Amino acid sequence: MTSSTLLDVESVAFHVASRPAHGEQELTVRHPYDGRAVGRTTFATGDQVEAAVAAAAAVAPTAAALPAYLRAAALEHVSRRLAERADEVAALITAENGKPVKWARAELRRAVATFRWAAGEARRFSGELQRLDTDPAAAGRLALVRRVPRGPVLGISPFNFPLNLVAHKVAPAIAVGAPIIVKPAPTTPLSALLLGELLAETDLPEGMFSVLPLPNERAAGLVADPRLPVVSFTGSGPVGAAIRRSVPEKHVTLELGGNAAVVICEDWSTEEDLTFAAHRIATFSNYQAGQSCIAVQRVYVHEWLYDGFLPRLVAAVRALRTGDPSSELTEVGPLVSESAARRVEAWVDEAVAAGATIEVGGRRDGATFPPTVLSGVPREAKVSAEEVFGPVLVVARATTDDAAFAAVNDSVYGLQAGVLTHRLDTAFRAGQVLEVGGVIVGDVPSYRADQMPYGGVKGSGVGREGVRSAMDDYTEPRVLVLTGV
Ligand code: NAD
Repeated sequence: MTSSTLLDVESVAFHVASRPAHGEQELTVRHPYDGRAVGRTTFATGDQVEAAVAAAAAVAPTAAALPAYLRAAALEHVSRRLAERADEVAALITAENGKPVKWARAELRRAVATFRWAAGEARRFSGELQRLDTDPAAAGRLALVRRVPRGPVLGISPFNFPLNLVAHKVAPAIAVGAPIIVKPAPTTPLSALLLGELLAETDLPEGMFSVLPLPNERAAGLVADPRLPVVSFTGSGPVGAAIRRSVPEKHVTLELGGNAAVVICEDWSTEEDLTFAAHRIATFSNYQAGQSCIAVQRVYVHEWLYDGFLPRLVAAVRALRTGDPSSELTEVGPLVSESAARRVEAWVDEAVAAGATIEVGGRRDGATFPPTVLSGVPREAKVSAEEVFGPVLVVARATTDDAAFAAVNDSVYGLQAGVLTHRLDTAFRAGQVLEVGGVIVGDVPSYRADQMPYGGVKGSGVGREGVRSAMDDYTEPRVLVLTGV
């Protein structure tokens, strides 16, 4: 890896109002697999935070008036530069997050596409003409409805997609002409800092972006700042809820957790169907060691298929290669920290004590937890009812497809669900009854295209991301009524 983000060179700069800066308190980033230091940066000081916010507020009117071609050019530049530095960026993601390099490459490719898509949206994004002369009182009137930025955006991102989830905040902001301040997760700030470097290469006006590493306790002050009217938060439920409570007057988007489920319906019954299901579920309950908000956590199998499915699933899970995430062969790496792995272990122990059976899986080794399948899990056990955020899958029988849908809905969360069926009527029914932000038919719930609306209901959040949805969120309609037309 040739990145300037490695420890063998000096501390990496962050960006305050588009300019590189260093803070005062050092932050060492460690590889989750073996704990070695992989990069250093500093936390932003109070003065730097103030400078970033003041600059964002000052540049907001200029930013809102930036021509589409300039916004699109900046976005395309970032997309292109990420693609040029693909190997280095993927290695950086693996180093700070611990995800296997093949998944890091997938994240990199998605971020390239997110910026490219946003460039296209920046060109397309305009308003609408609305006729008002639908009754005599408004004859001769026409409304021009434009969308204007609500103001500077504060983007707060989690550790599990340290690049693409930052892209999902930055790219739509630039696309609509809104300044943005990003606060990355303190465990994984390096990808966001690199994105800052690439943004600094563009012609965006000064102050348009800042990337501020901050400890959690100092992020709350930024949330409260009235000069940042939009808060786009991706992270855990309790933190998201606290943010929403603390600033009810702001426009807050929350992308929170989930305990995503997949249903194997009565008709998904051929050898080929069940083998496909086993492989997809094994892969996507364990990708990124289960640390994805749409990793498969629960599987409801029609009871007549259960006994044929379970051995296939166990075999597919057993075949996953666990180990050093830098190896091309590794499919499951460590969790983000040993304490995260300890928590997962405690939850599995709790389920077993309550009567669950371990079908496959084993003991924790440092930060690594082996891919694990549990059956006979009581519904209230944490591994089923809460977000496990680890490589643990709960498999259960369902008497009917409807019973399975009810089990999916029996959750405080509602992000995405997968429904394995060939039947169009079952697909439509699932789309109607499942209380989630998205239903993936014919596959696991862990599918996300970066342009589609993405987000959850219930405890999984408020609002939607996906480039166009975020652009809508970052803007509000402004109406110009023309008279005598
Ligand atoms: P987290 O809530 O611990 O942290 C998320 C971010 O919030 C970090 O940048 C953190 O520094 C910051 N933060 C923490 N306390 C804060 C406070 N008081 N005020 C302001 N900011 C604060 O989450 P995490 O562990 O980094 O990420 C995992 C969680 O994110 C999981 O629950 C996962 O499901 C969720 N997630 C959701 C989506 C989605 O799109 N729905 C995507 C990825 C991750």
